[in-house]
Amino acid sequence: MSTLTHWQQLARNVEPRRHAFIDGAFVDAADGDEFDTVNPANGLVLARVARGRAVDVDRAVAAARRAFESGAWSRSAPAHRKSVLLALADRIREHADELALLDTLDGGKLISDTSTIDIPGSAAILQWYAEAVDKLYGEVAPTAAGDLAIVTREPLGVIGAVVPWNYPLEMAIWKLAPALAAGNSVVLKPAEESPLSALRLAELAAEAGLPDGVLNVVPGYGEEAGRALGEHPDVDAIAFTGSTAVGKMFLSYAGASNMKQVWLECGGKSANLVFADAADLDRVADRAVAGIYACSGQVCSANSRLLVEESVADDLMTRIAERVTALRVGDPLDPASTMGPLISERQLDRVLGYVDVGRAEATLAFGGSRLLEESGGYYVQPTAFIEVAPDATLAREEVFGPLLAVTAFRTEREAVALANASEYGLAASIFTDSLSRAQRVAPALHVGTVSVNTVDALDVTTPFGGVKQSGYGRDLSLHALDKFTALKTTWFAGA
Ligand code: NAD
Repeated sequence: MSTLTHWQQLARNVEPRRHAFIDGAFVDAADGDEFDTVNPANGLVLARVARGRAVDVDRAVAAARRAFESGAWSRSAPAHRKSVLLALADRIREHADELALLDTLDGGKLISDTSTIDIPGSAAILQWYAEAVDKLYGEVAPTAAGDLAIVTREPLGVIGAVVPWNYPLEMAIWKLAPALAAGNSVVLKPAEESPLSALRLAELAAEAGLPDGVLNVVPGYGEEAGRALGEHPDVDAIAFTGSTAVGKMFLSYAGASNMKQVWLECGGKSANLVFADAADLDRVADRAVAGIYACSGQVCSANSRLLVEESVADDLMTRIAERVTALRVGDPLDPASTMGPLISERQLDRVLGYVDVGRAEATLAFGGSRLLEESGGYYVQPTAFIEVAPDATLAREEVFGPLLAVTAFRTEREAVALANASEYGLAASIFTDSLSRAQRVAPALHVGTVSVNTVDALDVTTPFGGVKQSGYGRDLSLHALDKFTALKTTWFAGA
């Protein structure tokens, strides 16, 4: 009798798209070259995909520019763009199982997450921008009587979207939804580790009625296709999510080419501040575990630093350890798994390297080893280090894995200073039952999002992004439209 789960059976029928999507059609890379995308759950090649290089990016940008100048999308009524994007949201829902499987097979993400969070969330975000775009009005400036100055928003033109692998479809949608709703054309470069859902999305968008050339997807390596987009003289803006190091490269590419706008959502080392006046330590432990071990810690806003008031530190760590024991690390296609693999062998080596660093500079509380090596997958134990000094590597560097760095503090002032002693500023959490403390601490934290008595609070209605070297510009909410539009002032002189 078969022991395959429902999802494992469905996965057998998934047929990945393998070509670049340019000007409304799937095409080979110009030189016919391909690269492997690997299933992180078993280390096997999942598909060979077109390896886009500068010449392919040129083709895609030219198609995007032609589409933009034609006005078929860029000058169409917002109500028309709304109807096409709503149709695309419907297509995503109709193909939700397939898209969830693609992100699980390609990105190693739990099917229980992709099928309930990533894919439904992507459709909902698209729907939200579609519904917003025909409700945005321009302005009439308060000029002198007789003059008339109107302020309107215009799409920028061709947007290059470059995204990471941790939420493959959803990160793409965070960029595409507002960019397309505003009337732009887009060239999307998915991460080389997880290109498959983006390619299927492009096909669904064409079926939904998006004109040829408005959405192009060029898979390939960062140093090749990503760089070519960054340096392209006919790209008007880059919307990037990824590491701080690569974000800085995009700033250089822009400076050395056409001064395109660059919007950066980069790394983080988010602090979770737990005060002793948070009475429900079980709730804190639940959230702290979710905050660092969800998605195997591969979340930009993961609460990777736990700053805990000394008097409750031992108690909280005991409760966290209990919950970690109950985590089930395993096949992401198995709905019973609660933690999947890391994205790649490179990421596994990187995380295990940080474990070695941690052993040298702090105290291992639990975890620290590779798991399920016989599967060929890149699994690692949920791990925590305590007594991490504020200047330790683990307190400063983004690991992007299931590795928690715990530091005890004595005073609120010390906690805030520790939280802010980071080159990153993406997010932070505060656990306290004191409203006045929350009201003091939240504004003192130099981050883009503060979650009080929870972790990683997020919704399409609220802006998401960072300060300091976590980047700038905001995804989600109406504010994201600012990145993809330019304000135009038009004066009509009085008679
Ligand atoms: P990465 O920076 O290596 O890659 C991101 C994208 O940039 C990929 O598409 C990649 O191909 C491309 N790229 C890589 N090198 C390039 C180069 N030289 N020129 C042009 N493009 C290049 O990041 P990653 O490893 O894929 O993702 C992990 C990082 O992303 C973490 O630092 C994480 O914090 C960050 N991230 C941030 C957010 C956020 O919203 N702030 C969300 C998710 C991930």
